[in-house]
Amino acid sequence: CGIVGYIGGQQATPIIIDGLRRLEYRGYDSAGVCTITDGCVEIRRSEGKLVNLERLIGERPLTGTIGIGHTRWATHGRPSETNAHPHQAGSIIVVHNGIIENYLKLKEMLKARGCQFLSETDTEVISHLIEIRFQETGDFEKAVRQALSELRGAYAVCVLCQRDAEVMIAAKQGSPMVVGLGEGEYFVASDIPAILSHTRNMVFMEDGEMVIFRSGQPVFSTVAGEPLEKKSRHIDWS
Ligand code: GLU
Repeated sequence: CGIVGYIGGQQATPIIIDGLRRLEYRGYDSAGVCTITDGCVEIRRSEGKLVNLERLIGERPLTGTIGIGHTRWATHGRPSETNAHPHQAGSIIVVHNGIIENYLKLKEMLKARGCQFLSETDTEVISHLIEIRFQETGDFEKAVRQALSELRGAYAVCVLCQRDAEVMIAAKQGSPMVVGLGEGEYFVASDIPAILSHTRNMVFMEDGEMVIFRSGQPVFSTVAGEPLEKKSRHIDWS
């Protein structure tokens, strides 16, 4: 399972697919990509190997310079296109690696508030929860902080918002995540090899940390909201 996120000046999809391929060693049963272009959310998902997803994208191209991608190793809900990530709820789009332990309780609460679930995954509670908090606060960043503080379990997440379409937010708790710093472009990935052909400047995310890419610049903080000074490291292996 793996995550790749991109924000910058290039087309996101080829970078994301290439990154996901370099994470294949982690194992997966389905895959998906989302980009936002001119305020439009475009999602392609497919069961099985990445070639299936690539075929789909070949038929219906996915443009945009901001995007998130995922290879899924199913833990909740069988491998299928509907259960594949990204998961969208309202204007919120999420990819997630890990397991949300309190997802049943959250799902009940969200259903009681009128949320309609389309998949069997634990992940879909994250997208609905962020969307609900976004409706309450009108603030994408606050909504992500609030929602993540309500989750129990393990996650690496990368989140986009249709109504705040120049922003990407990523955070981790118990699942791996690295941030790549390029020239006016930034990357999120589960592991170094996914993005090493684009940059060697990497920031290693620790549990409870979050990064917000807004107007390109990454801003690091704890999920709770304390600002963080993160040092980047130069990766010199090939
Ligand atoms: N628990 C999530 C699911 O089953 C994420 C699995 C993963 O880490 O790929 O969809």
